[in-house]
Amino acid sequence: MNTLLADLLAAAVFVAAAAGAGWLLGGETGVLVAALSALTVLVARQFWQMSRLVRWVERPYEVEGTETPSASGTWERVYGALHRRARQALAQREQMAQLVDRFRLAAEALPDGVLILDGQRCIEWMNTHAEGCLGLNAHQDKGAPITQLLREPEFVDYLAAGHSRQPLVLDSLRRPGRRLQVQLAPFAAGRTLLLVRDVTQLHRLETMRRDFVANVSHELKTPLTVVGGFIETLRDGHEDFSRADREHFLDLAAEQASRMQRLIDDLLTLSSLETDRPPPDERVEVKPLLVQVREEAAALSAGRHEIAVADDSGPGALVGSAAELHSALGNLVTNAVRYTPAGGRILLRWTTRSDGRPVFEVEDNGIGIESRHLPRLTERFYRVDRGRSRESGGTGLGLAIVKHVLERHQASLEISSQPGLGSRFRAVFPASRAGA
Ligand code: ADP
Repeated sequence: MNTLLADLLAAAVFVAAAAGAGWLLGGETGVLVAALSALTVLVARQFWQMSRLVRWVERPYEVEGTETPSASGTWERVYGALHRRARQALAQREQMAQLVDRFRLAAEALPDGVLILDGQRCIEWMNTHAEGCLGLNAHQDKGAPITQLLREPEFVDYLAAGHSRQPLVLDSLRRPGRRLQVQLAPFAAGRTLLLVRDVTQLHRLETMRRDFVANVSHELKTPLTVVGGFIETLRDGHEDFSRADREHFLDLAAEQASRMQRLIDDLLTLSSLETDRPPPDERVEVKPLLVQVREEAAALSAGRHEIAVADDSGPGALVGSAAELHSALGNLVTNAVRYTPAGGRILLRWTTRSDGRPVFEVEDNGIGIESRHLPRLTERFYRVDRGRSRESGGTGLGLAIVKHVLERHQASLEISSQPGLGSRFRAVFPASRAGA
């Protein structure tokens, strides 16, 4: 039976019983007094239950520790229903809190900066990447209008223009030298996500790539123009030139062709070094390698320099790529020949430092290098004297190759030089690469 009906029935039975008892004790007046007293008791009981309910509802609800007061009938149902609802609300709240926590963790794990802006474009929240990228502080800057913190005019315009689908790239004012990519993404209730990415490195690489393509094109264009010029001259006026002139032209053209060949060889070497694959762990005998690079340098010098191995007390072998190490040490030695005037002296040394690191050293008493050029020498196509480099058959890539090879072998390049006095290039290998 319905509990409300059962309660009403019980109340009616109670009042009727009281009235019956009143009739037996005092006739009609007794009935009235007894019925009124019974009704008063019933009403007082309901008030008492209601005040108990109010006190219970007002207490903070906890899953553990909140007891439901004992009650019967309709009141028991009321307590039961309220208890269930409170439990559901609490569970939903916990679910929401977990969801928010998960969202925050996910937003923190993103590789990009994320900010949430409210309808007034004030900062509601940001992840750690956003703090780093924009130079902001999540705690201090919360609630601040974004345009007060990021004042770059192009950003202010971008924001004012609304929700562009295109990202905006700008130079950061707060972090000079950094380039940022920002993008707006509107979402619920007028809020906007601001996604930020530091593209400084990407931009640098893109500039390097563009410069590299321009440099290679330029380097190839010059000899190609010379070769093309000779071909045209000989085709149009073959008979106008003596045999000696024609041979001279062909020699010059062949020289330019071999210059292009050298450039392409160096470019291929560089690109093969740019793989992620580490060099092979070959055992490279160093003494024969020293003899080989000395002989190559002597061939290039053609007797114009004194070239000697002054010290070969270093370890008997190096662990690494034989071809790459030959290329790196060979480049250092041929550079010494090319930048040392005739009559100069070039010394090769293979030693071990006190901390066990093997060192290959080339010392010359050639033209030397001003200190301001030293930090840039290993950049591709960087030359101190373009004319001199070309004259001596340089491609501008030799030291870039050396740097790459050494990096791949966890070795470093040390350069010391004095203009007019000479230079010393040292390749310092980790002790772990020394072989007995
Ligand atoms: P290049 O083909 O022009 O020689 P490198 O990358 O080998 O290119 O060297 C870069 C520049 O460093 C050269 O153009 C030259 O100016 C300078 N350089 C390298 N080695 C020496 C050296 N031993 N003495 C003086 N200058 C050197």
